[in-house]
Amino acid sequence: MDFKDIRPAAGVGRKIHIETYGCQMNVVDSETVVAIMQREGFVWTDNVREADVILLNTCSIRDNAEQRIRHRLDELSAMKRRRKGLVLGLIGCMAERLREQILEQHPAVDIIAGPDAYRSLPLLVGEVSEGGRGVNVELSKEETYAEISPVRLDANGVGAFVSIMRGCNNFCSYCVVPYTRGRERSRDPETILREVRELFDAGYREVTLLGQNVNSYNYELRTDDKPRDIEFTRMSEARRKKTKLITNYERGYAEKQANNCIDFPELLRRVAEISPLLRVRFATSHPKDMSDELLAVMASMPNICRAIHLPAQSGSSRVLERMNRKYTREWYLGRIAAIRRAMPDAAISTDLIAGFCGETPEEHAQTLSLMREVGFEFAFMFKYSERPDTAAARTMADDVPDEVKTARLNEIIALQNELSLASNRRDVGREFEILVEGFSKRSRDKVFGRTLQNKVVVIPRAKNHPGCEPCSQPPLHGRGTCPDHKPGDYVKVRITGCSSATLQGEEV
Ligand code: SAM
Ligand code: SF4
Repeated sequence: MDFKDIRPAAGVGRKIHIETYGCQMNVVDSETVVAIMQREGFVWTDNVREADVILLNTCSIRDNAEQRIRHRLDELSAMKRRRKGLVLGLIGCMAERLREQILEQHPAVDIIAGPDAYRSLPLLVGEVSEGGRGVNVELSKEETYAEISPVRLDANGVGAFVSIMRGCNNFCSYCVVPYTRGRERSRDPETILREVRELFDAGYREVTLLGQNVNSYNYELRTDDKPRDIEFTRMSEARRKKTKLITNYERGYAEKQANNCIDFPELLRRVAEISPLLRVRFATSHPKDMSDELLAVMASMPNICRAIHLPAQSGSSRVLERMNRKYTREWYLGRIAAIRRAMPDAAISTDLIAGFCGETPEEHAQTLSLMREVGFEFAFMFKYSERPDTAAARTMADDVPDEVKTARLNEIIALQNELSLASNRRDVGREFEILVEGFSKRSRDKVFGRTLQNKVVVIPRAKNHPGCEPCSQPPLHGRGTCPDHKPGDYVKVRITGCSSATLQGEEV
């Protein structure tokens, strides 16, 4: 597989443009939609003005996400009035959740397609050409788009997202995802491994395995899957002998083979075995499914990243119970201790919600104390936003006033900035290997890359080049024969300075 084979195809045809909102799952969904449309002769464009079909791939997770998208719909509706024949579609979670409302309130919208209806998009566009509106919001128990290799739209050709499962069965009381994305289902591992191999062959050096709850991935092999899987197992067996895993893991593995199931630790190991030059990340993990087995696999393979995103949501067991998170503060801290035992150098990041229903000042203080106790490297932090029809909206009062939510969120953000800065300061003087992704935002004389811990490091663009005078003056670099670091290069660096968001370094 060549780089150009997984990029948007050139050529003539009706032009399609997609704007993507929300999570990484939506990024890979948009790439899947481009692949589906390309098969039907459409051509991708990144210029909204020249598109014949514009799709907004939407997010419903918080009210402000939906408001932003409605505003954009208004702008595009105005554009549509000026351009006859333009097809405007809303796809993804908001399309699933607000179908009738959108059709009623935004008459310019021609297409509504939910997250499991993307295969029908060419048909829906056809219905619009015949003068109708195309709507499909059916959720599926099986759809994983397994055999469709997404057309990659990323900027750098270094890192790609790979969807390994869809939907969610957890029903956290605040969350709309189980309603908009349907039941949890895992993708055939063979198709995942094939997609990752194609990415590696095309020059990609990092994949992020994606799902709402990746560590509950579990694929039951069907009867017709068994023979090729046995072949697979033999290969893996030989490789596994080289890897020391804890006994429990080995025992668990034997049981799984007997049951013909591939779970997340097993999938992760198989992906990481594709090449030691391929970095493997994953998101998002649920604390209740963060098993010792998964940690053992991570610890045994140096190309699996030393970064775990483990959303806590709250530091109070009572709030966690109201959120239906299925763990307590103590359980969460127990999992953090297990991560530290298995990988003392792992970075731990999290998601936190401020001002959930009934949150008292003491319960909020417990979130702050959990943050201090864990010392998170990084966090996504949100104000609670009530989502219609969720368990919280149906059974609990959204009773923390908005100004209190804002004040609590600001406290959480201020503390996280302190923790991130403290963690980055500890890295000063240490050495890491980074994978270069591109130019630094601030200067073309610098490039940035990430450590295994997912921290961004900015280094001079010029490679160390002993004896070359301009090396000490990076702005002169690139004019002569001095080589530069390029996206996809691995570089050993020493950290020389930091802010709360970034590390600065130099090649060693
Ligand atoms: N499945 C992942 C998990 O459980 O950790 C994350 C899914 S969600 C797309 C990302 C984050 O959005 C959640 O971890 C949570 O912190 C936040 N979130 C979800 N619903 C929310 C709501 N109603 N209000 C505020 N934040 C919310
Ligand atoms: Fe939403 Fe909870 Fe599922 Fe995450 S695990 S997607 S927060 S219901």
